[in-house]
Amino acid sequence: MANIPREPREDVVVVLLESVAKGASLPWHRQKLVLILSAMRHFAASLEKAGHRVVLRKAPTYAEGLATLAQEFGATRVVATEGREQDMVDELERARTQLDALGVSLVLREDRGFLATREEFATWARGRKEHRMEWFYREMRRKHNILMEPDGTPSGGDWNFDADNRKPWPKGREVPPLWRTEPDAITREQMERVRGWSNRWGTVDTFALPVSRADAKAWLERFIVERLPEFGPYEDALVHGAPDLLHSSLSSLINVGLLHPLEVVKRAERAYREGHVPIASAEGFIRQILGWREYIRGMYWHLMPGLRTANALNAPLPLPQWFWAPDGEAYNGTTGGACEMRCLSDTIRQVRDYGRTHHIGRLMVQCNFATMLGVQPAALSRWFWAGFTDAYEWVELPNVAGMGTWGDGGALASKPYVASGAYVNRMSNYCGGCRYNVKQRTGPDACPMNFLYWDFMDRHRERFAKHPRMRMMTKHLDGMDADELVQIRTQAQQFRESLSYDG
Ligand code: FAD
Repeated sequence: MANIPREPREDVVVVLLESVAKGASLPWHRQKLVLILSAMRHFAASLEKAGHRVVLRKAPTYAEGLATLAQEFGATRVVATEGREQDMVDELERARTQLDALGVSLVLREDRGFLATREEFATWARGRKEHRMEWFYREMRRKHNILMEPDGTPSGGDWNFDADNRKPWPKGREVPPLWRTEPDAITREQMERVRGWSNRWGTVDTFALPVSRADAKAWLERFIVERLPEFGPYEDALVHGAPDLLHSSLSSLINVGLLHPLEVVKRAERAYREGHVPIASAEGFIRQILGWREYIRGMYWHLMPGLRTANALNAPLPLPQWFWAPDGEAYNGTTGGACEMRCLSDTIRQVRDYGRTHHIGRLMVQCNFATMLGVQPAALSRWFWAGFTDAYEWVELPNVAGMGTWGDGGALASKPYVASGAYVNRMSNYCGGCRYNVKQRTGPDACPMNFLYWDFMDRHRERFAKHPRMRMMTKHLDGMDADELVQIRTQAQQFRESLSYDG
């Protein structure tokens, strides 16, 4: 993946760079910094052990670091992997200018961390009016021959088994424990290093992610045995205090390069073929990687650069302070009070304490709340990018500004993922212990997800009145008691005004 020669060569130096500018560009979660810094060091050590010449260096920027090292080693050529996201593409162009001036050429090689090339996706996207994931996914299944039968039909007789999934977590069933890889000396050193860095976010002491290839492979094996068999049915379930539930928690490891997406997909397929995993779970999981991950990356390039400022619903608000400080703790010198919505505060705490919460917490709690409140997609995206250990712009931006907030006006998702408290109640155990009443639409105890939902529908009534999957809801508004609607609007506005915001 890293475009490094298989055999060590005397005339090749492998360079790993830490950019001070990148490290200071956002209030990164401390665990994300530890993951990247420690994984780099473990990678360097494994290359050295294999006989490669390796340099790990800190530099003001990646471009300056490359230029300095090229001079130091008298290089004639620098070989790098193409930028995975826009900032890195721009940075490599700056590096090219600096290297050119030194008479050094820069050669960019394809990023092998994906299963479709950028050109492949662009060819698929060209000329299509709609870019739905499902059609792209089927092409990927055929291309990589995953879950396909010799006669060309999909294994299990269907492409998609979602109808068998979407169960809430059974009452009384124990929640699987969070996995821990004990930090070794290298990791502990990086934990100490970032602990004191100012303008960063999140707890560092709970760091327990793998940072080496061997430990990452062990998490994959554990997932296949312990969680994959029931992954499908409980994919959408939410449980208080459980950031992963039966999800794999592999995204940070795949995105940082410790696991290759194809090895993960093939391992899951093998578990199905050997009879350890039912098709609904195997297919549901494989679709996430072979389908969603590739599609999201393709759509990032398809929609850039406009995606960074996309705001189709004209959402006006900055990010509520709760996202940085759910318990009302001081952040940036101020406090915004504690968040009393049990679903929102818990999923935000999971991010603060572990750098992650699973897909439904991100989509149906955090984005759902922010979208209905009216938070600008760019402000929410900045939080996701900084706060999650698996977040890079190529993956968080389409998920947040596209899927999560409908900022892209429907390029990714045909309708906004907004839902009232009833959805959270159906899929989680949050509402029972909450200070708010999920059954009430208005009044001092009403769940904010409820009045925000109807206020959202009301504010966007015209836009969605003819939308085939939204018009039922706008019709419902037409039949609503006029006084109740006024109350909903007033309560939503008062709620908005009661919050503290970033900046
Ligand atoms: P599992 O549920 O076990 O899924 C397996 C794998 O599928 C993941 O590891 C991931 O590699 C891939 N995957 C699944 N869904 C997606 C998706 N929508 N986009 C890309 N890959 C996907 N994923 C990230 O990797 N980085 C992000 O910054 C990120 N931000 C997100 C923001 C929002 C608002 C939403 C709704 C989703 C986001 N996702 C992101 C996608 C998804 O939520 C995470 O990949 C997943 O929760 C990671 O946990 P897991 O490894 O346990 O996933």
